[in-house]
Amino acid sequence: CGVFGVFGHKDAAELSYYGLHALQHRGEESCGICTSDLGGDFHYHRGMGLVKEVFDRDRLDSLVGANAIGHVRYSTAGASRLANAQPLVFKYRGGDLAVCTNGNLVNEPIIRRELEESGSIFQTTSDTEVIAHMIARSPKDLVEAVKDAFARLIGGFAFLIMTKDVLIAACDPNGLRPMVMGRLGDAYIFASESCSFEVIGAEYVRDVLPGEIIVLDRSGIREERYAVLQRRSVCAMEYIYFARPDSDIGTINLHSARKRMGQQLALESFVDADIVTGVPDSSISAAIGYAEQTGIPYELGLIKNKYTGRTFIQPSQELREKGVKMKLSAVRKVVQGKRVVMIDDSIVRGTTSLRIVNLLREAGALEVHVRITSPPFANPCYYGIDTPDRRDLIASSKTVEEIRKAINADSLYFLSKPGLLEAVGGAEGEYDRGLCLGCFTNDYPTPVEFEDAKATSC
Ligand code: 5GP
Ligand code: SF4
Ligand code: MG
Repeated sequence: CGVFGVFGHKDAAELSYYGLHALQHRGEESCGICTSDLGGDFHYHRGMGLVKEVFDRDRLDSLVGANAIGHVRYSTAGASRLANAQPLVFKYRGGDLAVCTNGNLVNEPIIRRELEESGSIFQTTSDTEVIAHMIARSPKDLVEAVKDAFARLIGGFAFLIMTKDVLIAACDPNGLRPMVMGRLGDAYIFASESCSFEVIGAEYVRDVLPGEIIVLDRSGIREERYAVLQRRSVCAMEYIYFARPDSDIGTINLHSARKRMGQQLALESFVDADIVTGVPDSSISAAIGYAEQTGIPYELGLIKNKYTGRTFIQPSQELREKGVKMKLSAVRKVVQGKRVVMIDDSIVRGTTSLRIVNLLREAGALEVHVRITSPPFANPCYYGIDTPDRRDLIASSKTVEEIRKAINADSLYFLSKPGLLEAVGGAEGEYDRGLCLGCFTNDYPTPVEFEDAKATSC
């Protein structure tokens, strides 16, 4: 999912619209914007579908106020339905409260059960509602209540919380899910990714830090922490495929990081071939890197129909399978008679990879050598990246050679963990250079063994 927030700008709803549109790749299922004027009322609208479908000029004009939070969602935990569209909006003793999240709370089922046993009634199956209940039940003031609630959460999350006159931004203690802070004139902007600052002309200030809570109200900005500083563990999959290439995480631009992943792949696993092609869009940067490093020309061997969404965002396997041919085509004149190196970001189930290899073969490729910019994805994610059950992860039960056969490739290689760390960069000496690699190593930055712990939510 993606979150976007504005504090102190007369066009808060319109800025959120453009910001969320730039974050659309993080979730295409539903979206919403909630606005508030200092001391005024909440105005909000949520709907199923894309930002450009859910909002029009009249809707935006009705969302008056100088503060806003907004959300784009893809469903993982919690069913795909309108009730789970965010921001969620509540009335509590302190007034109105709006909450939106990117991420997943590992211990949510435990907290939810406790709340239910002491009388809470939930309207949604979304994680986000749990935090609202925790805040509403606390006898403390808003900021202290939020800090107490966050201190109980285990997982990867980036939250935006809004009341009539306060906006709060916070990230989980490990910084698993990214969030950046920017300025636009006197206004403050928060977003899952910096690419959304570019479209509205906001200036990047800094990343929201792990365990940090930033509070904006009439008296200005307060930057505090609710958790002791932990090892930063940004989700490696954000670097590998999820975030947009024009976004930066910290000082690292994602296109550049992906290009270096391709270069590393070339160093680790050169293969003599005629062309290099990347699976659009996420693997084009890496394919350029592989081509540059090997001297094999980069070619547009695969084309994506830009009117189909990311296949994995559609909830069911059946839809996913239907989606792929709608989405990708091989460029016959480019690949015919050629030995092709095909770069992709990950192999999850193996079904998409098999289809793409076969597309290239059907278009006349002589050989298809698959190079993947991540280590084998053998373990589920508990922090908000959509992954199937462990038994559906092809790398959890098959060797690389077995996967190669399953996807019908002539050769297959996965980027090594050291190669990935080298490509991403990050602070020298930092344990694993500040990345979560749980789905590759089964070594997660938080406890994950909870009863009913689920992989995973938005
Ligand atoms: P597969 O070969 O595993 O079916 O699909 C691999 C490609 O689709 C990769 O580019 C990967 O990013 C994407 N993909 C397919 N299914 C999923 C999924 O459930 N979760 C994630 N994170 N990516 C997926
Ligand atoms: Fe990202 Fe994998 Fe960690 Fe999940 S387990 S947060 S997908 S690196
Ligand atoms: Mg892909």
